[in-house]
Amino acid sequence: MQLDWDVIVVGAGAAGLFCAIEAGKRGRKVLVLDNGKRIGRKILMSGGGRCNFTNIYASPDNFISANPHFCKSALSRYTQWDFIDLVQRYQIPYHEKTLGQLFCDDSAKDIVAMLAQECDQAGVQIALSQQITAVSSEGAGYLLRTTTHQLQCQSLVVASGGLSLPNLGATAFGYQLAEQFGLKVLPVRAGLVPLTWQPSDKAVFEQISGVSLPVTAEANHILFAEDMLFTHRGLSGPAILQISSYWQPGDELLVNLTPGQDLAAFFTAQQQQHPAQELKTTLGRVLPKRLVEILLTLKVFQNQPLKALNPKSIERLCDSLTHYVFKPNGTEGYRTAEVTLGGVDTDDLSSKTMEAKQQSGLYFIGEVVDVTGWLGGYNFQWAWSSGWVAGQYC
Ligand SMILES: Cc1cc2nc3c(=O)[nH]c(=O)nc-3n(C[C@H](O)[C@H](O)[C@H](O)COP(=O)(O)OP(=O)(O)OC[C@H]3O[C@@H](n4cnc5c(N)ncnc54)[C@H](O)[C@@H]3O)c2cc1C
Repeated sequence: MQLDWDVIVVGAGAAGLFCAIEAGKRGRKVLVLDNGKRIGRKILMSGGGRCNFTNIYASPDNFISANPHFCKSALSRYTQWDFIDLVQRYQIPYHEKTLGQLFCDDSAKDIVAMLAQECDQAGVQIALSQQITAVSSEGAGYLLRTTTHQLQCQSLVVASGGLSLPNLGATAFGYQLAEQFGLKVLPVRAGLVPLTWQPSDKAVFEQISGVSLPVTAEANHILFAEDMLFTHRGLSGPAILQISSYWQPGDELLVNLTPGQDLAAFFTAQQQQHPAQELKTTLGRVLPKRLVEILLTLKVFQNQPLKALNPKSIERLCDSLTHYVFKPNGTEGYRTAEVTLGGVDTDDLSSKTMEAKQQSGLYFIGEVVDVTGWLGGYNFQWAWSSGWVAGQYC
């Protein structure tokens, strides 16, 4: 392996490959190092194997960061439309699944193959199964020791991702390196992750694992309207994954089990049309029947003929269904989380170049940075955008 490089990128994921391509196009001699056996491992397993590669509505509002303004520059300079252009140039078939989320028609392999071809054309070298043992700054550049080589570069780009899915090669490398060079790292935690039951809730709700329904889920004044899924371990589904990034241990989760419906009008009409009908049967028209059974067990309502309801009891029932409170125990953690919240403090990075403000030639991009997207293709867009901008300067 050649030992002297203009740019070394650590991490052959979405951000690292994209940065390497851009730097290579500028004529920089670029090496990408990864600890895994293949490139783009998370891309391959993303979106159920079809990679939700961007979102047509991506905007800074879809990202969580201690500094919500930081992502604006990169997202506006390399947009979702730029990435869509690239995908179209490679004639990769794709479709919008829902809410602006773009997925490959066939396979996430199409995206990885596109990135591999772009790397090839830009003269980017990739070394896999590499273990980096030490990094130091050396004159105007950096020295990296691996178990087999001693490598030098002018610019070092850290694209080593977050901590989610440790069995896919996730390491704390990027955070440790940031701290080694004096950058602040904000506390990290699992995001886009299922929430788990308290033991008492588990005994009740695990009976309806597999049941899914449209809800709004709210925590800390943030609300998402999508599907929620009951599982053996707790709550999942898009609404829960989204809100998990805002939920903190100890917080309540407020769920509207019947969003977008005028429940009071529905009950009043049903009462007039079917006065002898049991409330359980009526509820089965607006909620999954197995959930209705559980709500009955939990005494959320009393089963009685509709004619026994008065306006006050209808109001109470509507309130308990539209403001149902869950108290999750925690999250499933990094084992199943799609992303890591927190990370390298954006205060220590240039939003224009992604270079460390106090450490010239050192760049941080992608998920290792304290910018985390919602579910729906936003995290890949951040990887492409932040990788692209760093690639113009490193
Ligand atoms: C199951 C799953 C599904 C997902 N689906 C989607 C989706 O459909 N759409 C979306 O937008 N986002 C999705 N995400 C999130 C998205 O995959 C990540 O946000 C994105 O991959 C981050 O890109 P990255 O390049 O910063 O990091 P990564 O893709 O994590 O790449 C980092 C690379 O660095 C390597 N590495 C780590 N430590 C070292 C080290 N010490 N030395 C050398 N190499 C190292 C890793 O092996 C890895 O190859 C999903 C995540 C998961 C876990």
